[in-house]
Amino acid sequence: RELPGDPRTDSIPREVLHSCYTKVSPSAEVDNPQLVAWSDSVAELLDLDAREFERPDFPQIFSGASPLSGGMSYAQCYGGHQFGMWAGQLGDGRAITLGELVNSSGHRWELQLKGAGKTPYSRFADGLAVLRSSIREFLCSEAMHFLGIPTTRALCLVTTGKYVTRDMFYEYVSLICAKHTQLVIGNPKDEPGAVVCRVAPSFLRFGSYQIHASRGKEDLGLVRTLADYTIRHHFPHLENLSKSDSLSFSTGEGDDSVVDLTSNKYAAWAVEVAERTASLIAKWQGVGFTHGVLNTDNMSALGLTIDYGPFGFLDAFDPSYTPNTTDLPGRRYCFANQPDIGLWNIAQFATTLSAAQLINEKESNYAMERYGTKFMDEYQAIMTKKLGLSKYNKQLISDLLKNMAVDKVDYTNFFRLLSNVKADLTIQDDELLVTLKAVLLDIGKERKDAWTSWVKSYIQELSASGISDEERKKSMDSVNPRYILRNYLCQSAIDAAEQGDFEEVRRVLKVMSRPYDEQPGMEKYARLPPAWAYRPGVCMLSCSS
Ligand code: AMP
Ligand code: MG
Ligand code: MG
Repeated sequence: RELPGDPRTDSIPREVLHSCYTKVSPSAEVDNPQLVAWSDSVAELLDLDAREFERPDFPQIFSGASPLSGGMSYAQCYGGHQFGMWAGQLGDGRAITLGELVNSSGHRWELQLKGAGKTPYSRFADGLAVLRSSIREFLCSEAMHFLGIPTTRALCLVTTGKYVTRDMFYEYVSLICAKHTQLVIGNPKDEPGAVVCRVAPSFLRFGSYQIHASRGKEDLGLVRTLADYTIRHHFPHLENLSKSDSLSFSTGEGDDSVVDLTSNKYAAWAVEVAERTASLIAKWQGVGFTHGVLNTDNMSALGLTIDYGPFGFLDAFDPSYTPNTTDLPGRRYCFANQPDIGLWNIAQFATTLSAAQLINEKESNYAMERYGTKFMDEYQAIMTKKLGLSKYNKQLISDLLKNMAVDKVDYTNFFRLLSNVKADLTIQDDELLVTLKAVLLDIGKERKDAWTSWVKSYIQELSASGISDEERKKSMDSVNPRYILRNYLCQSAIDAAEQGDFEEVRRVLKVMSRPYDEQPGMEKYARLPPAWAYRPGVCMLSCSS
């Protein structure tokens, strides 16, 4: 019989009150589990010798079939706003932390299995993950890291040898609209199961604090306890701020408007979370990454990209790009909305800290204000660098993005090619588009004129900047990736893997490990999506992806 509190068997779905986590052990069934891909870079973070991957018990441990000795496994309790509405308790429904590891540099890393069985937070779902979504999480975690974007990492991908029943519509209905499960139709489909080992300093989310505040007075103390824990372990520089740290800011007229962050570590923390989130989302916008499900339970308290589900990188530039079919037609989490959603989520986070009386209204407003300022500063700096300019030029950038949207220009390849434009004012009008020919496909006469005029202004700005063509190219190529994890590349790797061939998963990881370098022989990984990627049903992603 399952008993609450026995980590070997406790997966009874329930409201877990007055606690931040539940001790639970992985329970996924396996049949000859296989290690199919791993990240050398994460192994290095963990001081894990490459020979460890050859251990016969490695797939057992990292599928959850054998325990990791020395660890205490648990699942986190958290809540969240899903698509703008408070959803109550969610929690680690299919993620189980194995434990923490402190490496030789003194850095602490949490190891977490995703898809290793049920927890008290699994609600009506199975606690498992399919190969398709696990490959996406594994590859994108690492791809984002190598792009220079804060993210949870992925140590390895293990197949369980067992099949998992999945149906997109079933999952959508059961996870998002629990009330309407009777509407389930469609044929369940069996898919191979897999487990990813995620690694991060912490998987705490906004929802980790929200859940306790949502439960009223009795659990408000837990918000403080968890905030103290977070600051002590992950923001230690905020523990003992002194007046000399000059973190005092004026938010308007008069003495009343001064926010002194040195007098309240929680306010300093709220501001730092707001700034990290702003900076993260600015970086997403820079590389054309769309997260897909920016619910508050998917917002890391450390400012990391977390939970790779129906994410997507832009191919053709489209501000309304919404990779998550569950989010249609509303497009709450489309590419262009991400900065605003970040603020909405920070507002929820600040509300939680206010409810627990950790910050006051002024401090809360100030955190939100700093989100806006930080986002604009970073975004402008990123776009300026992408264009190789010496100073921000709002008009030039907004004209460019408008043109790109009209002509559905490939976001990644455009910026990569743009570094070849020379700051030469003598180029004749009819020659101006030669360098960009490969990315300005199928454009008519009128659109050619629009682009010619833009390139002309761009060249004028470049020549005024005084940066040499060579220097500018070098700098632009260091921020405009040659290779990004396009959905169709993921899909090709998934298709091969589902046939038992994991070579492509490993090759894609290798290419995405050096996104800013030209990699001779790997040019095909920079190509636009082939026609098959646009067929209905192919590359379709939902919340359960
Ligand atoms: P997500 O949309 O991925 O952020 O997931 C929302 C919630 O659903 C989280 O609490 C997840 O742990 C839970 N969840 C998603 N998939 C599963 C699954 N297969 N089994 C159990 N819980 C799940
Ligand atoms: Mg999630
Ligand atoms: Mg998810």
